[in-house]
Amino acid sequence: MTLRWQSVARAAGLASPDGSARPTIFAEMTALATQYDAANLGQGFPDSDGPEWIRQAAANAIHSGANQYPPGRGIPALREAIAAHQARHYGITVDPGTEVLVTAGATEAIAAAVLALCGPGDEVVSLEPFYDAHAAAIAMAGATHVTVPLVPGAGGFRLDAATLETAVTANTRVILVNTPHNPTGTVLSRDELEAIAAAAVRVDAVVVTDEVYEHLTFDGLAHTPLASLPGMAARTLTISSAGKTFSLTGWKIGWITGPAPLIDAVATIKQFLTYSGGAPFQPAIARALTEGDADIRELRDSLTHRRDLLSSALADIGFEVGRPGGTYFVCADATPFLSAEVPDGAAFARALPAGAGVACVPVSAFCREGSTTARDLANWVRFTFVKDEATLREAIRRLRRALTQGSPQNSD
Ligand SMILES: *Cc1c(COP(=O)(O)O)cnc(C)c1O
Repeated sequence: MTLRWQSVARAAGLASPDGSARPTIFAEMTALATQYDAANLGQGFPDSDGPEWIRQAAANAIHSGANQYPPGRGIPALREAIAAHQARHYGITVDPGTEVLVTAGATEAIAAAVLALCGPGDEVVSLEPFYDAHAAAIAMAGATHVTVPLVPGAGGFRLDAATLETAVTANTRVILVNTPHNPTGTVLSRDELEAIAAAAVRVDAVVVTDEVYEHLTFDGLAHTPLASLPGMAARTLTISSAGKTFSLTGWKIGWITGPAPLIDAVATIKQFLTYSGGAPFQPAIARALTEGDADIRELRDSLTHRRDLLSSALADIGFEVGRPGGTYFVCADATPFLSAEVPDGAAFARALPAGAGVACVPVSAFCREGSTTARDLANWVRFTFVKDEATLREAIRRLRRALTQGSPQNSD
């Protein structure tokens, strides 16, 4: 008998074709990193916690009694702070009473939105590669996942606009976007966003957009929310989270904003997933969103520096590097280091902890099994640079020693 979870696991790349469970690629790489004491540039979580004053605000909230169920839609102060944040940064107006919903991280918002809008027979179009929770949510809804590639080139990974046109059809209920994009680091351009908006309007689809890296862009690149495009606010659900913006990934305070009827639909599902959560974290994030712009700038500057450090070292070692415009990640083409024994990015990532003392993840883990994109990106791997500079320098030194012959004195 095939159980439901097996098809979900398979869709998210977590099950073998025979249906048996296997650990996520992240868990597998972290286990190898631990076994070989490798610098773990695989899993994308910060190795230093967010600002002390925000953590103190949560501690104060625990001591002053924010310990029971908060309102299902989130405490008013946080919903107001989210609305003010959208207005201040993007000129987007949302009503904190009816157009904002606080969720258990962006992950719950993605699942609740897809479950609210899609079912069997419906198609959800997403970018490929994609964040694993996107594929899992589509599979849990029983909907069909259709993908549009991001293609590597001189300008980084860019949207394949021709495929977008054919992928979006009358069966498309939702276009699931992610910008800035994990794993490629792509910040979708105005043209790319307009193509997505036009496709959504053409078939009357809803756009669900995962913008958790909205503040983590580099080189003066500005993140443009899809909801800010003309006419799009009425058909767009925008998802973000405090985890990445404030280096507090374990708090799981996320939110979704959009037109009241769509938020009502998502809230109906969300109330039976978790109902509510994070009581003491909500007032702390309300303050962070209101008073934390300087902290965000500091993180962005420090990430820019770390992105430069890792990207230029990878290029120098011999990888082709897809220069990321945002996020925690840089993707690199490992083709120069492949061989009969290590034939692709997945094999390279599995061999690297023992061979070099560094962990990364293959980009194919973010693709549908057997897809054209999975084949095209088979040799690519993803490294995270959201680690302290000493860890990055040590990882670079080890990669240089293992991958470049005869120049150990060049180490970093
Ligand atoms: C980390 C991440 C998430 C998950 O966000 P949470 O708030 O931790 O649930 C969602 N989408 C993308 C693209 C991410 O990288």
